[in-house]
Amino acid sequence: MNLQEIFATEIARLKSEKLNWEPKQLQGPSSNIAKFDGKKVILLCSNNYLGLANHRALKKAAISAVKKYGAGSGGVRAISGTMDLHVKLEKKIAKFKHTDAALYYQSGFTVNSGLIPAITGEGWLIVSDELNHGSIIDGIRLSKAEKAVYKHADTNDLKRVLSENKEKYKNFLVATDGVFSMDGDIAPLGEITETAQQFGAAIYVDDAHGDGVLGKNGVGIVSHFNLHKKIDIEMGTFSKAFGTTGGYVCGSNEFCEFALNKSRTWLLTGSHGPATVAASIAALEVIEKDTKLVKNLWKNREYFVKGLQGLGFNTGKSQTPIIPVMLGDSKLAKNFSNELFKLGIYGLPIVFPMVAMNTARIRTQVNSSHTKKDLDKALEAFKKVGKKLNVI
Ligand SMILES: *Cc1c(COP(=O)(O)O)cnc(C)c1O
Repeated sequence: MNLQEIFATEIARLKSEKLNWEPKQLQGPSSNIAKFDGKKVILLCSNNYLGLANHRALKKAAISAVKKYGAGSGGVRAISGTMDLHVKLEKKIAKFKHTDAALYYQSGFTVNSGLIPAITGEGWLIVSDELNHGSIIDGIRLSKAEKAVYKHADTNDLKRVLSENKEKYKNFLVATDGVFSMDGDIAPLGEITETAQQFGAAIYVDDAHGDGVLGKNGVGIVSHFNLHKKIDIEMGTFSKAFGTTGGYVCGSNEFCEFALNKSRTWLLTGSHGPATVAASIAALEVIEKDTKLVKNLWKNREYFVKGLQGLGFNTGKSQTPIIPVMLGDSKLAKNFSNELFKLGIYGLPIVFPMVAMNTARIRTQVNSSHTKKDLDKALEAFKKVGKKLNVI
């Protein structure tokens, strides 16, 4: 078969099942109110939890760094692309996360896809939560280790998997998201840690949606459960609450040095340019100084989740600023999102196969830059559409 035909056939199938992506265009900053496809909407589907993506201090830091260092880094980190800015950022990350060291990568995706195969190999079993992020799944696929899956956030099932396999493998890595992005629930990391320790398994936590959100002033899931120094590997991203881009890992000095020498997604890729790195440093400085950001995020989260529940919506298992509005049927979720958009609210419909069959939803994400007026307007729109489509 001709390759172009394979593309055309698959795209036609996706389109006929309405499973193809058609990204809307953002025509200005990512803010509480943002312009998409020519329309100003209240944005309820960004990962910009603390409103830092368009923060003055980050923009200022990026502009000054461009003036001093230029637009690009000119190399991969291992050769000529490590600027003093990258090293400063890594020290800042380690301090923020209370670890000995940190290493900054191109993205969270490239941490998971490059580091998991570097740490694990033959003789290893990676034990993974069934709802882990795709980048963890890809990292596991690239590893020579075997894989076993435990039921979502179920430590009894984790225990079952570990005890069934304890004689068969030499080494175990338990991998979990900290906050699960489809439901907004939190992994029971305290219990996971106890269980893993019983079996001598190492723990790998992905804090992408917990950074800047959970724990003391947004330090993340390890702070939330007070597990400092008990987690072998913590990774996360700057592309969510921190408002820029780039992934990181943090932990012991030995671990970070190992990661530096062994992950090809760190060694063989051009480093971030000065604007992004300087803005990332500024992001951590802003969070440390302005403790209102995280507080306001949670205040907004409580207000919005109560508002939705008060209207009669089912907000599923949400424990975080990720709040799904459970609808069940995929078509209903898509209609609901379109109706909301007409009323100036952008909430993402999430449907099969991104989530299990018959668990379609509108996923909303509240952030600290939403005003009470924004949230009231969004609730009013949810009420109108909910009534119109017979959901409430
Ligand atoms: C977003 C996300 C990533 C990827 O992070 P990027 O830096 O955007 O590549 C990895 N893991 C989880 C759980 C995520 O939600």
